[in-house]
Amino acid sequence: MAVVRQLASNGIASHKMRLLLLLACACTWAAPVSAQTAEPDPVTPLLRSLERALNAADAAAVTALFSPDVPATQVQTFASDLLVPGAVGATLRERDRMQLEGAPPGDGYSLVVEFFIETAGKARILTAGMDMRRPPAGDLASWRFVGAEGLTFVDGLYKLRLVTARPMAARNLEVTSDDLVLQLPEGHAFLVECDEGVTGLILLGRGQMTFSPTAAAERGQLRLFSGNDTLASPFEYAFVRLNPSDYDDRLTTASLTPTAPDARLVRRAEEIFTQNAARSFNLDLQDLSADDWYLLPPVRDFLAEIDTRRFGTLTYSLTAEQAEDISVFRRKDRLTLALYPSVAKLAARGRFYSDDALRDYDVLDYNVEASIEPQRRTLRGRARLAIRVRSTALATVRLRLAESLSVIGVTSVEYGRLLHLRLRNQNAVIVNLPRTLLQDSDLTLVVTYAGALPTQELDSDTVTVAPDAQEQGGTPDSREPAFLLSNRAYWYPQNPVPDYATASIRVVVPEGYTCIASGHPVSPSDVVSLRDILGAEDGQVFTFRAEQPLRYLALVVSRLARVGEARVVIENQTDPGSGVDAIALSVAAHSSLRGQSRRVMQDAEEILRFYSSLMGDAPYTSATVALLESDVPGGHSPGYFAVINTPVSFAAVNWRSDPASFENFPEFFLAHELAHQWWGQAIGWKNYHEQWISEGFAQYFAALYAQRARGDRVFADMLRQFRRWSISESDQGPVHLGSRLGHVKSEPRVFRALVYNKGAAVLHMLRRLLGDEVFFRGLRKFYMDRRYQKAGTEDFERAMEAESGRVLDRFFERWIYGNGIPRVRYSASVGERDVLVRFEQIGDQVFDLPVTVTLTYGDGRTVNVMVPVTESLVERSIPTDDVVRRVQINQDGAAVAEFDEK
Ligand SMILES: [Zn+2]
Repeated sequence: MAVVRQLASNGIASHKMRLLLLLACACTWAAPVSAQTAEPDPVTPLLRSLERALNAADAAAVTALFSPDVPATQVQTFASDLLVPGAVGATLRERDRMQLEGAPPGDGYSLVVEFFIETAGKARILTAGMDMRRPPAGDLASWRFVGAEGLTFVDGLYKLRLVTARPMAARNLEVTSDDLVLQLPEGHAFLVECDEGVTGLILLGRGQMTFSPTAAAERGQLRLFSGNDTLASPFEYAFVRLNPSDYDDRLTTASLTPTAPDARLVRRAEEIFTQNAARSFNLDLQDLSADDWYLLPPVRDFLAEIDTRRFGTLTYSLTAEQAEDISVFRRKDRLTLALYPSVAKLAARGRFYSDDALRDYDVLDYNVEASIEPQRRTLRGRARLAIRVRSTALATVRLRLAESLSVIGVTSVEYGRLLHLRLRNQNAVIVNLPRTLLQDSDLTLVVTYAGALPTQELDSDTVTVAPDAQEQGGTPDSREPAFLLSNRAYWYPQNPVPDYATASIRVVVPEGYTCIASGHPVSPSDVVSLRDILGAEDGQVFTFRAEQPLRYLALVVSRLARVGEARVVIENQTDPGSGVDAIALSVAAHSSLRGQSRRVMQDAEEILRFYSSLMGDAPYTSATVALLESDVPGGHSPGYFAVINTPVSFAAVNWRSDPASFENFPEFFLAHELAHQWWGQAIGWKNYHEQWISEGFAQYFAALYAQRARGDRVFADMLRQFRRWSISESDQGPVHLGSRLGHVKSEPRVFRALVYNKGAAVLHMLRRLLGDEVFFRGLRKFYMDRRYQKAGTEDFERAMEAESGRVLDRFFERWIYGNGIPRVRYSASVGERDVLVRFEQIGDQVFDLPVTVTLTYGDGRTVNVMVPVTESLVERSIPTDDVVRRVQINQDGAAVAEFDEK
């Protein structure tokens, strides 16, 4: 995301070049000149001649390549755009070729040509439309340009220079950014310059880094990581990047004085530069230039790679255009130690935000065609994106695509062939538009690409349990491999900010393989054209259409046998016009799992029927369950399908110590994953903080299904397990820390304990405080209001407040944004006609807590009474009609609190 705006604010922009329109350009597509053409290709020699003339800075030679019919002044204008003063090199690349309008076939072409023009320290890329023609009866050498139209240019590409000849001695130097101070009492500094000034520096010596975040949750994470609220460590070196205009503000420059070069220090600085420079702001220009070209950090942005003694190399960055603009990251193990908004950012955007606020554009519809080799894990794809501009103006489109996939070409239906660049070390493609598009304008991009990808492992966004250590090992070799491409594979070009879109997917896989993808399976109609387009070998074609919007597209390819199909009709629909009145369920399985798959089919049907009845709606017209053989159980559920990883024998895996292991509920994974069709897919989350809207809700739905299918005891077991994990892990952070819970200690169980289990426990407490009717009405309202959109805690809170007429700020403040666990002292005294219970919340925070009091009468009867403990002191008299033998508190485990009997 960062870079689109960086591009714009760095002066990379699209402009209409001075026009030199000599011929009306209304070209028709020509068959590309191919090897079988007898005549030698006239294009390459003419372009090479132009390249030579530009490299020789020979304006006369450039002019000579144009037809004498072209007015000389116009040729000069064109040449002056290309003949940049101080240019040291020009590289030309033909990007596209069409038959020239009005010329006999083979006698004229319209080309799209990219010019890479560089000076010693700066470069620009120009894209031009160039027409060339053979004069009547002319030979190969007689071809001339008959027109040239400048389309776009990109500049703001810089070379970095490490200034080794002028090292600086540093004394009491301070380099500062938000919440960060780098101090160098004594040492050396080497400047990193570009044509605009100082854009970086290397600090060498005995430095001291101090990072002290303002946000409380971040201090908590640092405490877990290092035992301290701040990260403080001596450092050996720091590599800094900044915008030249910030140099004087961020540094105490008076602390620097020129000193004599020292060969050893220079070598060290060079090593550090080589190691760190290309890690950020570095462009991959592919065939245009093999050199390292950089962007400048935008004004106020700041980046530092700090080689600390205590924590290894840390990357601090301040990136104004991110909603959480301050981050500290450790590349070595991809650990995010801090990520939060600066004080200025928080003041500007408020407490809550949606990733959508950052999006430049919407993708309305994806059309992805891919030929997939599951054994080699390769794919060739072509994706068409229907885009609508959301920002005020858009000059470059940034797409996310796995770095291992190379882009063959980007075209737009409206503008033809487009220039694209890749940013190194980021899954990013930047497409330069020929003109700036205004808000609400439409654009259709077609991206062809190919490459290899690893299969996506089930982890953070998915449930997969960690087996107990002593039970690991013994992977069966016979296991059927599966190739899963989903939300973290970036297997198709996509909006960096995921948004809802409809989609079509067509996939060719080798004979014998099955593909399951996001969308309703449809019978392929034009298989031949697909093979033509993708050059695919013969194979199976699978086609899917998603009429209901999806957050992301996914597919899995494996050898699967079809188990069965069923139709689940949605009764009592809340919105009969939704277009989904039934779910077409189908199950496919690895052959080793055939024994279990019949049962799964029945369970899936029951689960879908139950969830549809709870919500009065189903978001997607089909649900395909893929049962894959695996060592440990787990699952993943994109829209329209679910992958369930299943050990052939559960007895082989001991995973009881996982928060997501429920011994008496073997349908757990299926129930949890299918719930994601509603929670996580139809309702997305606004940003990573809000992931409990997906996982906590799916977990609670799974528990509701457990109660229905397995009874109250199994449900109570689950609630007790939710409570136990909530209490044991809450010191690791609030539910609202989302996917970062457990991250600093690389302990995914913390994430599952809090986002899944505590999230579900919080929903159950809310339900008990509000009552079943209000709770489920509120849940439906929230779901229907936000269907096919992203949601956050505050949206859920507002829906529940609207249904209940109660203010729920404190409830969510304590349970979702805070991480305390209430401690409650209680006493019960049994009177003649009542039982008096007394609850006292210890500590300065008051929680809203529904507590079940269980009375056991002399004859063995039990009665449960819910007492809402919503004050620091609550006394309640419970009327009784017989002798009470026993009073018990929180037997159902529903209240996430610790109780002490007084
Ligand atoms: Zn889940």
